[in-house]
Amino acid sequence: MVSRSPQNPADVVVEVPATSPEAVRQAATRASDAYARWSAVPALERAGALEAAAGALDSHAEELTGLVVREVGKPRSEAAAEVQRGIAILRYFAQQALDPMGEVLPGSPPGALLYTHRRPRGITGLITPWNFPVAIPLWKAAPALAFGNSVLLKPSPEATGIALRLAELVGATLPPQTFTVLPGGGATGRAVVESSRVVSFTGSVAVGRDIAGLAAELGTPLQAEMGGLNASIIVPDADVERAATTIAGAAMTYAGQKCTATRRTIVVGDPGPFTDALVGAVERLPVGDPNDPATLVGPVISESARARVDQAAAEARSLGGRLLRGGAAREEPGWFVAPTLVDNLPAHAQLLHEEVFGPVCAIIPAADVDEAAAITNGVAYGLVTSVFTTDLDRALSLVAKIDTGLIRVNAPTSGVDFYAPFGGEKASSAGPREQGKAARDFYTSLHTVTIAPRV
Ligand code: NAD
Repeated sequence: MVSRSPQNPADVVVEVPATSPEAVRQAATRASDAYARWSAVPALERAGALEAAAGALDSHAEELTGLVVREVGKPRSEAAAEVQRGIAILRYFAQQALDPMGEVLPGSPPGALLYTHRRPRGITGLITPWNFPVAIPLWKAAPALAFGNSVLLKPSPEATGIALRLAELVGATLPPQTFTVLPGGGATGRAVVESSRVVSFTGSVAVGRDIAGLAAELGTPLQAEMGGLNASIIVPDADVERAATTIAGAAMTYAGQKCTATRRTIVVGDPGPFTDALVGAVERLPVGDPNDPATLVGPVISESARARVDQAAAEARSLGGRLLRGGAAREEPGWFVAPTLVDNLPAHAQLLHEEVFGPVCAIIPAADVDEAAAITNGVAYGLVTSVFTTDLDRALSLVAKIDTGLIRVNAPTSGVDFYAPFGGEKASSAGPREQGKAARDFYTSLHTVTIAPRV
């Protein structure tokens, strides 16, 4: 397996063999032994280990940022912010290790002690995408470890180098085999699912459904966070310039490679002034080498990702869509795509129904807010919607009509608070929410204990 720098594909970041299914099973045996030891470690020590992991990342933040820029082409400012987020996630879950692990209820018969108690589940299998190569593995691994589980992490092949470095930095603060990174692709991922007591996946809908099917057959609890086709709704009373700047960033920075990126902008009423503002805001985004601290839009991850964006733009054009910006120009070498804005698309166009993971956004007019809500909801996905308005009543009534897991008013669709529950509806998610206090429900199982008085 080879991972290459998307801005300079001749730069091989790492080349390692994929972990065979047999090697995954052997790693699982070691992780099971590690679990037996780790789950018996006092919570205060587990908290201390995660604190130490945060410290290890902190003292290598600059190096890790550089690796994120190099391996996945994330612009430097965003890469640095992601590393800081990873550190904060480790510190947050270090504290959660010390939270109450259950509650006491009224006993029956009176005098009985009736209480709940959380236990770790065992080996947790984590399968992660390349686009947040530090934050996503850590927002799954940190709660798993905090509550006493051991971890098998199967990272994306495109982010293998970052995952192996995380294994060194985080793994060094933990007992051996408690946190194991297993490089590989689909076959390695399936073996991880087969070897785990609980599975957390983030990635595309197609792969997530495949894994969900396997987990269901095995009776293994699963959490899957998948793609989105997120909309921003512009109500006529919105601050047009501010909304345009925010949406340009949410749609195009990091070349649109966020599950929460804005893919559709729905304009209530006359779309003209907002469209002009959005074109201007997109034109102002600095595109180029992600190593340059000023860059906000770098390359897409691979040649095939660039081809999918090209194909979507070509389809849009062939259906009579108007390319307001982008579509063709690019820098070489590297997998660069110009930020692309399209309007005038027919309702059945692919861009309006399927996630294209790149810097492409469609503008759609709506006669009124009800139609805007219907367009937002009229797709298979349900991750996040943002609404731009200065009218609180409007905001509240739209919030009530929108069927995405996250709803943000006067804020970009992109942006995740790791201390709040995160997840989507419909095809975007399966299983319980992750992050925040919701993580504890997933990485522990709840036992109800009754101790009755002897007489
Ligand atoms: P992907 O689905 O191609 O891969 C995700 C992971 O699954 C990788 O580690 C991959 O190697 C592994 N995998 C692939 N086939 C497998 C199989 N058959 N069995 C087991 N594992 C398998 O996704 P990607 O290209 O890495 O990431 C982009 C996608 O992730 C987009 O759809 C994006 O929307 C989504 N995403 C969602 C969220 C979220 O929280 N909702 C966050 C980030 C990314």
